[in-house]
Amino acid sequence: MKIQENVALAPLTTLQVGGPARFLVEAASEDDVREAVRFAQAKDLPLFVLGGGSNLVVADSGWPGLVLRISILGVKQQEEGGSILFDAGAGVDWDAFVAQAVGKNCAGIECLSGIPGSVGGTPVQNVGAYGQEVSETIESVRALDLKADRIVDLPEQACGFRYRTSIFNTTERGRYIILRVAYRLRPGGTPSLKYADLQKKFGELAGPPSLAQVRDAVLEIRRSKGMVIVPGDADCRSAGSFFKNPVLGEAEFRDLVGRARSKGLSIPSYPALDAQRKVSAAWLVEHSGFAKGFTLGAAGISRKHALALINTGGASAAEIVRLKEKIQRGVQEAWGILLEPEPVFVGF
Ligand SMILES: Cc1cc2nc3c(=O)[nH]c(=O)nc-3n(C[C@H](O)[C@H](O)[C@H](O)COP(=O)(O)OP(=O)(O)OC[C@H]3O[C@@H](n4cnc5c(N)ncnc54)[C@H](O)[C@@H]3O)c2cc1C
Repeated sequence: MKIQENVALAPLTTLQVGGPARFLVEAASEDDVREAVRFAQAKDLPLFVLGGGSNLVVADSGWPGLVLRISILGVKQQEEGGSILFDAGAGVDWDAFVAQAVGKNCAGIECLSGIPGSVGGTPVQNVGAYGQEVSETIESVRALDLKADRIVDLPEQACGFRYRTSIFNTTERGRYIILRVAYRLRPGGTPSLKYADLQKKFGELAGPPSLAQVRDAVLEIRRSKGMVIVPGDADCRSAGSFFKNPVLGEAEFRDLVGRARSKGLSIPSYPALDAQRKVSAAWLVEHSGFAKGFTLGAAGISRKHALALINTGGASAAEIVRLKEKIQRGVQEAWGILLEPEPVFVGF
């Protein structure tokens, strides 16, 4: 096991802010993970598990303990009845895995094309986009349980998946190190077309589009919104959507509609959001005085997407946090809603 010291974390994240890790270990196997954990425990170091770094804001002071970067690779495949179980290492690049599944004409994750990060990161916030979530296909998650000090296989039902949450980022945060994830996909299955942009795109086809066509369409939509990583493009130097779409109760929603009406506005309605009583966080941000392209120091809002906070170049984590707080205050003053951030804050 190679232990590196004082390793810059910013280049290991998509937002590219933050200070160094005191120690960093790259774990390519389950044994590596166990050894790294023993090292952290022996030295009483706080442990942070790093995947692809695409959902993180690392503090300028960095991480005072051990960063364990998961690079367990390999995808195993097993046919069972009418479906195929893909068992992928936590360090596998997520989009490469989606491409592989679509290439094998297996349905279930095609709408999740282009999302950066690792396989192991996907169960953590129950990654979702364009009407699909990983919880719909995850069969089980293999993880090192730090509390029980053993490797466990958690069935989907034990993971507590909901909108952008699971046990891994709520009740059992910090307890599990995800080693592998098994997804059950449908060979020859039809693609999911729940999202209006996708339905519009394929409206004129006689039959359903192929999985590959849906993947291409998702990638095209994501590119237009700066929601894929394009090296060198500041509009993509983000952690994805910075705020969750708020889920409102009946009274809160009525209050919001009333506030909008008094401003001569109406709350936009999207079937995908309405079904879960969610309101578009992007709309709230844009209608609180924050346009795409807004900047505060070296932090800004992407010119392509109102929900993506970006590092325009050389930003500090403090600048990103200042912008986040300014937007939260603005939205709360205008609409009475506190937006909840989606990325994980590390070392704050
Ligand atoms: C341009 C862009 C677009 C995005 N679009 C979407 C989107 O459409 N939908 C969406 O849901 N997300 C989106 N995201 C957010 C992000 O890509 C996902 O949340 C992704 O799954 C994070 O995975 P990661 O490997 O990068 O995790 P990291 O950012 O490295 O870590 C995120 C959290 O997961 C934990 N973690 C990571 N790996 C493991 C592991 N093996 N075991 C235990 N814990 C682990 C970390 O400790 C941390 O708490 C986007 C991000 C960017 C930059």
